[in-house]
Amino acid sequence: MFYVERNFMKFNDVGRSFSFVQMGVEMYIVLLGAPGSGKGTVGKIIAEDLKLAHISTGDLFRENLKNETELGKEAKKYMDKGELVPDEVTIKMLKSRLEENDVENGAVLDGFPRTEVQAKSLDEMLNGMGAKVDMALNIDVPFDEIVERIANRRSCKGCSEIYNVVFNPPKQEGICDKCGGELYQREDQKPEVVENRLKVYSKSAQELINHYENAGILYDAKAGDSVGKTSYDVAKEVEEYIKSK
Ligand code: ADP
Ligand code: ZN
Repeated sequence: MFYVERNFMKFNDVGRSFSFVQMGVEMYIVLLGAPGSGKGTVGKIIAEDLKLAHISTGDLFRENLKNETELGKEAKKYMDKGELVPDEVTIKMLKSRLEENDVENGAVLDGFPRTEVQAKSLDEMLNGMGAKVDMALNIDVPFDEIVERIANRRSCKGCSEIYNVVFNPPKQEGICDKCGGELYQREDQKPEVVENRLKVYSKSAQELINHYENAGILYDAKAGDSVGKTSYDVAKEVEEYIKSK
């Protein structure tokens, strides 16, 4: 990992030190964590603060679904059941995303890799770009907390905004505050499917954790209500850690 000088680099009042928010950082961060662990939220905050691209394979698939592309149609078969989309399809999609311009300073990868095959191919892809995974952030939330969280989730049909019927309800039940769209429970947020997603996650989680632990770049963050840490807290903790390196 290394810091890069950018135009917006500014020294602070005393003219000595600077923070990375002003500085920019060049790195690839991989997010590990179960569905519903809040890794999407953590990823977005970190990416924005560190000026990195935020790449979510789940979002990329959903975009394809919405645009009814061939890729989207193929992916839907797996997504609706909470299964993983085959490695070959997923890796190809990620590879072309990494070639886009906004990735030049690195990225926060949210939802990729999910299998060891994907992890190895990511290492190869980045290697080919003269880069590497600099940090794997594992967000650890107890499964029972996750099940409850996802069960309470509702999405807007219009703008995809997400609500929690307990912690973040819309002003009017069933209706989006932002666009007036209808709120619904996504197919993959239904309890049976959530359970399957967690099962699928558990199956590959350990080998991914091992992969990055062996590389010496694993950072473990406990999160969730039981430890009193929100996604925001985790993001700030990680940023402090990066700054201290
Ligand atoms: P979650 O992390 O909550 O499961 P995502 O939005 O990350 O949700 O992903 C939604 C779905 O997209 C997954 O259930 C899976 O079917 C598919 N998907 C996303 N990323 C990958 C990946 N790296 N490999 C295979 N399938 C993926
Ligand atoms: Zn909406």
